[in-house]
Amino acid sequence: MSFKNSKKFSLMFKNEKDIFNILFEAVSEGVIVVDSTQKIISTNASAEKMFGYTKNEITNQQLEILIPQKYHPNHGAHFHSFIKYQESRQMGIGRDLFGARKDGSTFPVEVGLNPLEFSGESFVMALVIDISIRKQQELQLQELNAQLEKKVDERTQELSNTVEALKTVNFERDAEIKKRIEAQNKTKNALKKEKELNELKTKFLSLVSHEFKTPLSGILTSAMLLGKYKLSEQQERRDKHIKTISDKVHYLNNILNDFLSIEKLETGKITYNFSTFKISKVVNEVVYNANMLLKEGQKINYPENIDDYSLFQDEKIVELALSNLVHNAIKYSSENTLVDIQITQDEKFSTFKIMDNGIGIPENDQKSIFNRYFRAENALLTQGTGIGLNIVKSHLENLGGSISFISEEHKGSVFTFILPNKVNKQ
Ligand code: ADP
Repeated sequence: MSFKNSKKFSLMFKNEKDIFNILFEAVSEGVIVVDSTQKIISTNASAEKMFGYTKNEITNQQLEILIPQKYHPNHGAHFHSFIKYQESRQMGIGRDLFGARKDGSTFPVEVGLNPLEFSGESFVMALVIDISIRKQQELQLQELNAQLEKKVDERTQELSNTVEALKTVNFERDAEIKKRIEAQNKTKNALKKEKELNELKTKFLSLVSHEFKTPLSGILTSAMLLGKYKLSEQQERRDKHIKTISDKVHYLNNILNDFLSIEKLETGKITYNFSTFKISKVVNEVVYNANMLLKEGQKINYPENIDDYSLFQDEKIVELALSNLVHNAIKYSSENTLVDIQITQDEKFSTFKIMDNGIGIPENDQKSIFNRYFRAENALLTQGTGIGLNIVKSHLENLGGSISFISEEHKGSVFTFILPNKVNKQ
C-alpha cells in the first residue's frame, strides 16, 4: 500500500508537471510528504539537503529516520492524533523540536503540518525549517543577557558597596566633625571665659584708676583735715570728715563687692541663703540707707501698709536688688525730685516698682542697659561702673524672677522686678 501511495503522489506531480512541481522544489523550507503510515512519499531538495540524504535514500523510508531516537516513543501518538483531527497546524507548540541528520547529528527545527486528501488517501505535508542559526542567536542573546544581568548585578553590588562605604565615611566624617565642633566650642568657651576674665581685670584696673581716685582723694583730704581740727569745738567738722571718709570707703567697698559678685556669678560659686522674712523689713533698711544719699529736696515714697507681705527668698539679694534700683533712681535724678517705691503681692509673685523723674535712658541705649559695664551716654558724668543692673538681673533670674523697665529721656524711668514669693529650690 505504501508503495502504491508513493506512486500515486508522484503521479500527481508528474501528470501536472506544472507550476506546482516547480514551487515544490523551489521553496527554501524543506518539504516532506508522508502517508498515513508515516512513510516518506516525497521530499524536496531543501529537505534532502537539510537532513543529508539523497532523494533515493530518503524516499519510502519511515519518517522516524528524520527524528532523533529519543523522541520516537511520543512521536507516533502525536502523528496519529494529527491524522485523526486533520487540521493544519504548527507542530510542537510549547516544546522544542529536533530533526536527525543522516550523520546522526540533530538540529532544531520548526515544523508546519498540512493534511492532504488525494484519491481517497490521507497524506501529511510537513514544512520544515532549520532553526539552528536562530536558536544559536537566541542562545547567544540569552548568554549575552545573562552576562549583562550578571554585570548589572555586579555593578549594583559595587554601587551599594560604595554607597555603604560612603555612608560609613559620612558617618565617620560626621562623628569627626561633631568631635571637632565640640572641641572648637570648648576652646571657644575657654577662650571666651579667658577673654572675659581679662576684660574683668582690665576693667577693674581702669576702674581702680578712675573710680577709686576720686573717693580715695576725698578720703585722703578728709583724713588730712581731721588732723587739723584739734580744738574741741571743732567736733562738728571732724564728724563731717569722718562721715565723708566712711561714705567713700563704703562706696569703694560696694564696687569691690560688685566685682566679687561678678566672679561668683560667672563661676557658679554663688550660694543663696533662703529664709522667710517680711518685705517691709527690707524696704525700711533700704530706705534708711538711701536717705543718706538723697540730694537736696529729694524724697522717697514707700509703702507703709505691707506688713502682711512675706517672702521665702534670699533676703540679702532682695535687699541688693531694691537698693541698687533706689540708688540709681536717686543718682540719675536731680534735686527736688521724688523716688516712688510701690510693692504688690499676689498669691505667687511679689512685684517691686521703683519710679523716678530723673534723666531717663536714651532710646538707643535701652537695649544694652543690662549688659555688663554698659553705661548710657547721658550717665557718663555721674559716677558708676555699669555693673549693678547686670548683677541684679543675674541674681533675680537665678531666683526665678525677672527685671524690666520703661524709660523716657528727661522724663524718668520705672524699673520693675518680680520674684516668686517662695523660691523654688533645685
Ligand atoms: P552704674 O549706675 O554704676 O553705671 P548700673 O548697672 O546700675 O551701673 O546701671 C547701668 C546704666 O543704666 C547706668 O550707667 C545708667 O546709664 C542707666 N540707668 C540705670 N538706672 C537708671 C535710672 N534710674 N535713670 C536713668 N538711667 C539709669
